[in-house]
Amino acid sequence: MVDVVGQYKKIKKEIDEAALRVISSGQYILGKEVSEFENEIARYLNVKYAVGCASGTDALMVAMMALGIGPGDEVVTTPFTFAATTETIVLLGAKPIYVDIDPATYNLDPSKIEEVITKNTKAIIPVHLYGQSVDMDPLVRIANHHGIPIIEDMCQAIGADYKGKMVGGIGTMGCISFFPSKNLGAFGDAGMIVTNDVVLAEKLRMIVVHGSRVRYKHEIIGVNSRLDALQAALLRIKFQYLDQWTHARRSAASVYSRLFAGSGIEVPCEASYGKHVFHQYTIRLKNRDKVSYTLSEKKVPHGVYYPIPLHLQEAYSAAGKPKGTFPVTEKAADEVLSLPMHTELDEEQQKYIVQSVVEAMKN
Ligand SMILES: *Cc1c(COP(=O)(O)O)cnc(C)c1O
Repeated sequence: MVDVVGQYKKIKKEIDEAALRVISSGQYILGKEVSEFENEIARYLNVKYAVGCASGTDALMVAMMALGIGPGDEVVTTPFTFAATTETIVLLGAKPIYVDIDPATYNLDPSKIEEVITKNTKAIIPVHLYGQSVDMDPLVRIANHHGIPIIEDMCQAIGADYKGKMVGGIGTMGCISFFPSKNLGAFGDAGMIVTNDVVLAEKLRMIVVHGSRVRYKHEIIGVNSRLDALQAALLRIKFQYLDQWTHARRSAASVYSRLFAGSGIEVPCEASYGKHVFHQYTIRLKNRDKVSYTLSEKKVPHGVYYPIPLHLQEAYSAAGKPKGTFPVTEKAADEVLSLPMHTELDEEQQKYIVQSVVEAMKN
């Protein structure tokens, strides 16, 4: 699905040098590499503050902690995303309140948000799934009207934009994952939170180091969730290639769509309001499970993101709803199939993949 080693080999010299530089420096926790990387990301996303942390999951948790979210609170989000988005809400003792998705973008449908807002709603977490922005204007309007903060889960969408604005800087906070397979991937776990709010930025900065500003003085409850100096140094190298890699992903996506033309297979749509960064290239098939089985037999890599909607997951069932509650999500979970998408794809590989999918669909 991804080719992290192929990508590393192309920039091996720079990466190896950066790794050795950090190892020889003795500065392993925080320090210049981390703060420089935070500044670079803040500039890129056109936000004032960026705070590194240990993962995208932690970014979500720390962002909610900074808002003081806890027991009795409700957080509005999508049931069609990676588990981390809901897991962190539940972990803090709050309740995920789901709204169904838009069938074309797979993203939370803003027209369904108003009806679930209560006096307990403490945040809205839109997820820019597969690399495409949520339709943010209506969402921001509702959030502002009720005075509810927005936490953008942009773990799959670094570099995506919405009406010319980078995602991550549209809501109150933006949460980034640098998991190795993400569009900007570390050599291990890493994450970041961005915001334009100085008060929140200060809280975030404290929470990731045990709620402390001055060592051994703890003002609020925090965690240990720092971005490694080593990962920061390596990410700084890879960051220089991000736009080029995004371009490569977008090109690969248009090659796929061209090759699928006329096959009757539903390909991803790029909404007119923004730039899709194709973390995933996701098609839709009525007989998805059968096609997936055939592709596995032929050893054609593919993935299903995500086969079980979060409202139907056993772990969060206390907050769950019965099957049938979110029909658009449930249908998507039965039909989506993601194809290999990375910066090292060539057209021959893509032709083979498309041919295999089309054959599997017909048989
Ligand atoms: C990857 C991902 C996360 C979690 O990020 P980690 O760095 O793996 O903890 C959260 N939300 C979404 C939508 C993701 O894709």
